Formats: sequence, C-alpha cells, structure tokens
Amino acid sequence: MFQIRNLSKKYGNEFALQDVSLDIGSGMNFIVGSSGSGKSTLIKIMCGMEDGYQGTVTYKNKDISTLNDTEKSYIYNNIIGFVSQDFHLIDDYTVFENILEPLYLKTQYSESKIDKVLSEVGILDIKNKKVRLLSGGQKQRVQIARELLKNPEVIICDEPTSALDKDSAKAVIDILRKISKTRSVIVVTHDLKLIEKNDTMLELDKGELVTEVALVTSKGSKLKIYSNSKISSKKAMARTKTNFKRAYGKVAIVVLSILLSSILLLSSVTGIINKSGQDEYQKLLDTYGNALLDISIHGSFMSASGGSTDDPNVDVDQNINGLYDQYVDDERLSSVLIAQAYSNIVANFDGTDYKITSSNNTPIFNEMLSGRAPENNGMEVMVPENFVELVGETNESILGKTMKFNSTVNKWEGGTFTEMPTEVELTIVGVFNSTFTLVTDGVSRDIEIKDSFFMNLNANKEIRKQAELDVDKISFIMRGKTPEDVVEIKDELNKTGIVPLGQFELLEDIVKINNQVKEQSSSATVVIGILSVLLAIAIMVIVTILRKREYAILKICGYKNSDIAALSLMESIGIMIVSLVVFLVLSPLWNIITMALFGATILQFNTLMVGISVIVLISTMYFGIQVLVSRTAKVSSTLKGGNR
Ligand code: ADP
Ligand code: MG
Repeated sequence: MFQIRNLSKKYGNEFALQDVSLDIGSGMNFIVGSSGSGKSTLIKIMCGMEDGYQGTVTYKNKDISTLNDTEKSYIYNNIIGFVSQDFHLIDDYTVFENILEPLYLKTQYSESKIDKVLSEVGILDIKNKKVRLLSGGQKQRVQIARELLKNPEVIICDEPTSALDKDSAKAVIDILRKISKTRSVIVVTHDLKLIEKNDTMLELDKGELVTEVALVTSKGSKLKIYSNSKISSKKAMARTKTNFKRAYGKVAIVVLSILLSSILLLSSVTGIINKSGQDEYQKLLDTYGNALLDISIHGSFMSASGGSTDDPNVDVDQNINGLYDQYVDDERLSSVLIAQAYSNIVANFDGTDYKITSSNNTPIFNEMLSGRAPENNGMEVMVPENFVELVGETNESILGKTMKFNSTVNKWEGGTFTEMPTEVELTIVGVFNSTFTLVTDGVSRDIEIKDSFFMNLNANKEIRKQAELDVDKISFIMRGKTPEDVVEIKDELNKTGIVPLGQFELLEDIVKINNQVKEQSSSATVVIGILSVLLAIAIMVIVTILRKREYAILKICGYKNSDIAALSLMESIGIMIVSLVVFLVLSPLWNIITMALFGATILQFNTLMVGISVIVLISTMYFGIQVLVSRTAKVSSTLKGGNR
C-alpha cells in the first residue's frame, strides 16, 4: 500500500533519513531502530505531516506530497489513523470529548461502539476524566481508541507501548494485531519482544534502512479521495458547548475584553466625556441666572454703555418690524416674550386697585413658577410672583382670573417722550419669577423687577394702538437654548444691522472654551476608543494563538479550514450572546460607573443600541481572528516537537 522510494530528509545539515526505499502492505508491520534513527520522521512523512524531503512516498499509487488540504482532511478522517508519540489530545477535554472530535465529521457514530472500543483498550472507566489528569500510558490509549473509531485503512503508531507496563503493552499490541487482519498496522517500537514471526519488521539505523527488502512495482488503481462532509450546525453547536464548558477561562477573558472595549468605545461614541467639560458653563449660569441666555430686541433705546455717566446717551432707533414673527417659532429658542415697559401701573384685581412702583427697567423673566406663557388667544398676561403676593392669591389660585391693567407707555419723539395712558383687561395665565441677577466686580446680587408683566400679541397690539405707537414695532426677549444658539442669533441679527442686547461677550467666551474642550476631549475619546478596540483585538489574538495546537489537532482529525470556520462562527455567536446578556444585565452598573467617572450616565435606549452594535462588531472581529489564526495552524509545524 505504501511505496517509499529513495527517501531522504535533512534537518539542518544532518540526515534524519537517507535514501530509504521500502514497501509496506497490510498486516502487522514493525519499524524498529535506536532512538534518533529516523523512525518518527519516516512515519510523519508517510502521513503527510512533514514535507521538504527528497524521493517519493505513495499510498495506493497516490503521491502523498501532491495532496492538497482538503484531500489531507479526507485522508486523516478516513484513511490514515496516526497515534503520535507526543499525544495529539486536547488536555482540557475529557477522554470522551477527545474521542468525539473526528466523529463529529462522520454522518453517524454510536456511543455503544465507542464504549466497546474504550473497554477494549482498557480506558472505559476514565471516559469522563480530563486528559490533563491522565498518565502517559492512558493518554496513549485514548489516542489509539480515537484512531480506531475513525475506522481507517491504515493505523500508524509511534511508540504506542513506550509508556505502558508489560501487560498493558501486550494488550495494546494484541488489539492492534487483531485489527491488522483487515487493514495495515504500522508500529514504531524498540521493544523487539512484541514482534511475532509472521510480522514484518523493518530496521532503521542512523537514518538508513538496514533490513533487506524486495521492492515490487505496484499495479492497481489510484487511491480515490472524496471530500469529508461539512460539520453540521448541530454538531458544531455541541462542540461549542464542550469548548465553553472546558475553556471557560478563555471564554470569560474574551467576553470581558469585548465588554470593556464596547463600554469604552460607547463612551467615546456618545461623547459623554465631553459633558465634564461643561462645568465652566454651569458655573456662569449659576452666577448670572437664566437671563444669561436672553437676547433682547428693542426698536429704540438709550445706548448707555457700562453705566459710565460721562458717556453721551446715544439714541438707537432701529427697524425691528417683522422680527418678532421671524423668531417666534425658532427651534433654537426656549421662549419668546413680548417685552413692553409700562410705567404708573395700576392693576384693578377683584375690585381693588393696586399701584405698582416703576423700576425704570425693561421687564425681566427668570423662570416659570406656574401656568404657562401667554399665547395668542384672547388677551393674556403672565404676572410676577410679587404681584400674586400683593393681591393675596397663590401661584395656582390666581390662574384664570382677570384684572384691569392701567399704565402709561412712553411715546418717543425726537429725544423726548410723552406718557400715553392705556387700559386693557387681561386674563392671568401664568406666574413667573422676575428676579434679575446683577453681577458687579464678580459679586452677584438678585434684584426683583416688580413691574414685569408679559402680555400676548393681542394685548400688546391694543396697548400700542392706544399709545399711538407703531403696532408692528414689537420689542421682545428671546431665550436661547444654548450659548451657541445665542451667539449664532446675535451674529445673524448684526448682519442685518440690528443691535440686540444681552450678555454676548460672556457667551462668546463660553462658546470658545466649549469648542476647545470639545476638540481636546473628542480627540482624547477617539484615542481611548481606538486603544480599547486594539486591546480587545490583542487579547482575542493571544487567546486564539494559544489555541493553535487545538486547531492543528482538529486538522489531523480531518477538519478542513471551512469546518474550523464553522466552529469559530458558532463560538463567536455564543460569545456574542453571552456578552450581550452580561451587558444588558449589568447595564445599571455601567451607569453607576460612568456616573462616578464622567458625571453622566451612558445607557439610554439609543446608546444601548450603539453598545449592542459594538458588541456585534467586535464578536465578528473575533470570528475573523479565529479564521485567520486557524488557517495558519499547520499540522507539520504546530504539532512538531514534544517528547521525541
Ligand atoms: P526516532 O523517532 O527514531 O527517535 P526521529 O525521527 O525523531 O528519530 O529523529 C531523527 C533525527 O532527526 C534525530 O537526530 C532528531 O534529532 C532529528 N530531528 C527530528 N525531528 C527534528 C526537527 N523537527 N528538527 C530538527 N531535528 C529533528
Ligand atoms: Mg520517535
């Protein structure tokens, strides 16, 4: 069956085999010779596990060196069983789990058959013991049982009895001799006592064959090679379960690295670290109050700069017609209020007249306390809290009540003004706080502007009509949602020649600082994100490289690269599911951690989705890494060495 012609193999400058020619047929064949005489080298070449030799080795007229990976897989699963001197077993798996490896590729196998073979080689009692815990002799027998169950045409054993006592050695040889009746068995040994007279014996000495052999040119047809059937998803799942059970440490490391990198990547994607840079803004907001974000638009005002009395008062008169309509529904604003200044206010509420002292300030809105801002139906007004106290109501009870509102409104004409009397009847729809924060030399002081009343457009138009003012020239205060919004709107207005009033210099500084912080922290988070993914990849690569031996063992059991890819896919899906479950179950914990680190929670619904995608992505990478590494796990180089 085997024909070997002029076979030479060199390691470095030393010949391990030199010009060996022989034939090996069916029955019991022994290869003997002292240690280092080239026995292992010879049979590894015969199995296609070594290359780089001179001469030819054929099995059933098929040149071993011409086999491609798929053909080798078929041969390892069906034609040649190889029992190695350095046990090709997965230490963390049990005996039974090791024996199953080649059988997963068969269409069927029976457990009673497995038990029968295990008892024949005398290891049935250790079927569920981990290989790691076995003696050398027991491991040898596990290999023999696994190879026998493949039911191959040839079984090649490298020193199968070297680790066994006399009785066990004889028992193993008896089994091999029994099966040699129907196939070829090749045994490497230096125990000549095992050899019987009908056996074939070939002796090597320093790489040369010293037995006389008659070479025949074999006739007959070439070996037919098929392809193994693909591993079924059910069996891949069973094997994945075994692997998770036996290698849970590695699984845990991979899951942890996926979780760690997804959390870090998530925090950079959602930019939560940026939020810690906004503390400065919060401080300013605390100092200046809500009105920090106000933009006031007035048709005419005295531009008295900085309160310095030397400055000449400049009369600003600008065309703001239509601006109110333009901004009233702007997305960047949280409120738009009509800001009319009233003097000599007398409010008639519940039959009583209440006089309100003039502050000579434009109305101030700090924050809503109850009800809502006036809207454009009927005649609506919102009143300051101090007015509620003045009339003896509460913030809630006053809502919906009406009052008669008498006041004078200034009509400007050439630097002087006339006080025009007005009167409207209003429904109170809201109560607000009219405190205004004045900051002088860094010290802030709260002042209540008691004559702040905000009416809706109908009421304001009526008053302007009575005061003979331009009905469309509406003064108003709009509040931006963010400092960026305010600066943007201010620039927009300046471009059209309108001068709004507000704390623009402060806000421009905040925007500048914000942008800097954002730039810095976003590059920091990008670095963190990239590093965390690299870390996960590095961990996954290391874990996978540690499995190279396992992949090589699968290959000599008959797995093709595509079968190992199928196993890897199943494992990656398993890892992904475990990661997702842990991620979701522990999500409240992530929030606590990120709250402590960055002062923000990261897991809301949308970030949860990002986290899930990141886990799916990294699990896919794990699959890719496994495929790449398993492809590089060559049987010849990976399983080389050990105790020769
Ligand atoms: P045996 O199995 O008869 O003890 P081997 O076939 O293992 O002998 O080794 C034959 C010779 O080749 C020895 O000198 C050994 O040191 C050498 N050899 C075997 N394998 C390797 C290897 N992978 N690299 C270098 N030298 C090797
Ligand atoms: Mg050897």
